[in-house]
Amino acid sequence: MTGIQNITVLGSTGTIGVHTLDVIARHPDRFRAFALTANARIEPLLDQCRQFQPNYAVVLDADAAEVLRQQLRALGLLTEVLCGPAALEQVAAAPEVDAVMAAIVGAAGLKPALAAARAGKRVLLANKETLVMSGGLFMEAVRAGGATLLPIDSEHNAIFQVLPTRFNQGLAHVGVSRILLTASGGPFRQATPDALAAVTPQQALNHPNWVMGPKISIDSATLMNKGLEVIEAYWLFGASPDQIEVVIHPQSVIHSMVEYVDGSVLAQLGNPDMRTPIAYALSYPERISSGVGPLDLFKIARLDFEAPDTTRFPCLALAFDALHRGGTAPAVLNAANEVAVAAFLQGKLRFNDIPRMVEATLERVSLVEATVLSDVIEADESARMIALDWLATRA
Ligand code: NAD
Ligand code: MG
Repeated sequence: MTGIQNITVLGSTGTIGVHTLDVIARHPDRFRAFALTANARIEPLLDQCRQFQPNYAVVLDADAAEVLRQQLRALGLLTEVLCGPAALEQVAAAPEVDAVMAAIVGAAGLKPALAAARAGKRVLLANKETLVMSGGLFMEAVRAGGATLLPIDSEHNAIFQVLPTRFNQGLAHVGVSRILLTASGGPFRQATPDALAAVTPQQALNHPNWVMGPKISIDSATLMNKGLEVIEAYWLFGASPDQIEVVIHPQSVIHSMVEYVDGSVLAQLGNPDMRTPIAYALSYPERISSGVGPLDLFKIARLDFEAPDTTRFPCLALAFDALHRGGTAPAVLNAANEVAVAAFLQGKLRFNDIPRMVEATLERVSLVEATVLSDVIEADESARMIALDWLATRA
């Protein structure tokens, strides 16, 4: 690719967004921020606008957008402020845009990611919820729009790095037997069931290896994050559920592996820093510096592996089950989990009740085929209502 690429960063004020801008800032000869977006917190967005001077800044909330508009004007900056969900889709699909970093958290990230795919952009997908909710529809939008899909999730980025480029002809064609998805096991890997019942939000937010936003930190602690990633791998790589094995690897140095029919296992290793997958996706198929330091194998000294325990961490089994059931089951799983995580963070639900709420919701929502986007949106909405109802009747 020649010239400077225009990048839209959806969710620029989040953990992935900030890391993305860090890599962009290292390569002004290659990338420029075209649009930056945030939910409601405009202070960090204002700072980013000062530094990167994007064409557009999008804020979800109209009042916050007006405040930002005045602040930018006072600074003499030309960034135009837009607001509302439609504006997210607009800056994802704008003709000037080369690549879109989809790094909004949760179901809110689905429509703008879809807009980028339909518009044929290079889509850097961090928002795994998009594939969990609507994997079939999203992959079809990528194909129909002629988009290039590059996974940002460290595991999927690792798998993408060690698969041959022809993998989309089918894993059997390229001699792949299994995908080995590594998981740190989270902060409670060795906790007893009693200890899990008493976990506080503060403890759960404290991930041993990665710095991440609150929702994915809780998902990592329950292993739902790994469950969502199994579904993500199914869609990205065309792996059957039986071909995906979760391997607990507490050091988070191996970011995932691919096993081939000849007995070879290829892995991607590196320090646990999201700037590596972000830089790889931004520059693919080239490689650029990311700010991540070299891996010190002598300091790491050892790599451990163990099987996941789905008795203590039922969310992983629930996700596999939703994948087997197909249709809107993964969208229901995702919506119930979002409600459960928010309730846990607000102190309204115990940690070990998160899987109970998800399971109860899956039992109560009627599942259908996910044929059009409205099937997914309706499943998401009714799952949220049923999950909240379940919470209310327990209180
Ligand atoms: P975060 O909470 O740090 O940031 C989320 C961003 O989304 C913020 O910019 C926020 O303003 C924006 N946002 C939140 N709700 C919104 C809404 N309703 N509408 C518009 N914008 C909204 O989250 P994060 O850790 O950066 O994760 C972002 C996504 O990337 C998630 O889907 C997560 O699963 C995925 N991911 C993150 C990591 C990581 O290391 N943080 C790794 C792999 C995948
Ligand atoms: Mg991951």
